[in-house]
Amino acid sequence: AGDFSREIEIVHAADEEAALETEAVDAAEDLESRPAVITVMGHVDHGKTSLLDAIRDTAVAAGEAGGITQHIGAYQVRHQGKLVTFIDTPGHAAFTAMRARGAKVTDIAAIVVAADDGVMPQTIEAIDHAKAAGVPILIVVNKIDKPEANIDRIKQQLTEYALVPEEWGGDTIFVEASAKKRIGLENFLDMLLLVAEVADLKANPKTEASGFIIESRVDPGRGVVATVLVNRGTLHVGDAIVAGGASGRVRAMRDFKGETLVSGGPSTPVEIIGFDELPIAGELCRVVKDERAARALAGRRASRLKTERLARERSLTLDEVFARIAAGKVLDLNLVVKADVQGSLEALSDALLKIQHPEVKVRILHSGVGGINESDIMLAAASEAIIIGFNVRPSQAAQTLAEQEGVDVRTYQVIYKVTEDVTAALMGMLKPEYREVVLGQAEVRATFKASKVGTIAGCMVTKGIMQRGAKARVLRDDVVVHDGRIGSLKRFQEDAREVQEGFECGILLDGFNDVKEGDVFEAYETREVAREV
Ligand code: GDP
Repeated sequence: AGDFSREIEIVHAADEEAALETEAVDAAEDLESRPAVITVMGHVDHGKTSLLDAIRDTAVAAGEAGGITQHIGAYQVRHQGKLVTFIDTPGHAAFTAMRARGAKVTDIAAIVVAADDGVMPQTIEAIDHAKAAGVPILIVVNKIDKPEANIDRIKQQLTEYALVPEEWGGDTIFVEASAKKRIGLENFLDMLLLVAEVADLKANPKTEASGFIIESRVDPGRGVVATVLVNRGTLHVGDAIVAGGASGRVRAMRDFKGETLVSGGPSTPVEIIGFDELPIAGELCRVVKDERAARALAGRRASRLKTERLARERSLTLDEVFARIAAGKVLDLNLVVKADVQGSLEALSDALLKIQHPEVKVRILHSGVGGINESDIMLAAASEAIIIGFNVRPSQAAQTLAEQEGVDVRTYQVIYKVTEDVTAALMGMLKPEYREVVLGQAEVRATFKASKVGTIAGCMVTKGIMQRGAKARVLRDDVVVHDGRIGSLKRFQEDAREVQEGFECGILLDGFNDVKEGDVFEAYETREVAREV
């Protein structure tokens, strides 16, 4: 490099990234109260969107938010002089997808239950997702304007999920509301402030900003537009930023009302322009020294992410459980359990929870009746959980997502096999199961002695394919006389990687020269498979 008068700068990418990824600790005197961030979840049609709209509209009507509000993924309202931030994408799917990327955005989960419909499957999913994230839950009983509304029934139903209202001796806050008739919204906000006060939410506003990407899109006129929810420090126009593989400089900033901002502090959602490419929702966004550093860091991250899939690092498989326990990295074995009927679900859950291990506790994050869906996969990805399916299968979309996220999905048809596997995994005695797949067969029609290499078999592929390097056994009158590997495979004189059915080829088996006319070569491979009984 010296000869070419170039300077070498040695940068340890890992160190630099590690420094960025470690959570900064703020001194107590730098911490100030910050607004709570709320995500609204619940069963479809129970009124999540209506509730979010009602709160925003009420604030607008009260003259709080002047101008036309726009959708940027989050908004804020002022209540009793205090700000509350709402994530504008309702539902636990979005919530958990963010969490799977490492984003801890939500402080309080508001779970909406329609008073006329009661607790439904997605209500339970939402509760389990919020609990898995360790986020306090507030129940909003919505649609109380409906004549069929039955509030007590919901309270009763929810006690089964350890959500007991205060008047029944529990500590879960229930609010009654009608998004449609604008009833109970004030009280809802009052209660949110109360929960927030108990949670004592604080952040240091006087430092370089970090936050999470809530949304991003390409605007034809403005380029990449991203919403960042600041969680620490204050983001300023002009700051150099990086989020995953995207980088840039904050060129302009607006709030959800479309008003121009020059800075945004903790819990503030800000829409920014200036990223060079689309950052992914849930990605951590950080301020760095300058744009060049941001670009370099983003570049390295992008290439690193390409080679090693982020999700794969995170997800846990049953085969790895013991290694992780041994390394002191697993204290809870998190499971998502799905079964075909309630009875088997209960029997299975009971059996799993009875498994004893000195250091590890089996925790069922979510259990439900029905097929394994995408929300189960995301929950598992976000919580390092393993999915156990009993007489159920993943949907096609869930299967694809599981592969992407590297989530271990195990399906069974016998309960004792499930507990046997989980116990074995905890003890480090789980053997991966291999299943043999036959690739094809070839008949030996002639043999040739080649002095240097050995005996070459002239074959006809009668079924499937022959592959160079594949395992192969030699069958003579249906008796296995040799088990080895295809060392060389030729079509005419040319080396071939594989030869299809109906074609002739020359095969040389590694370390086997005793081949005879009439022998059958059976090529096969063993694949590690998810255990199935
Ligand atoms: P989401 O799927 O949970 O977001 O539910 P939506 O907000 O889209 O509401 C579903 C339906 O319930 C819509 O037709 C709403 O008009 C209606 N709805 C929402 N809140 C109320 C309410 O408080 N009372 C009544 N009667 N209907 C409501």
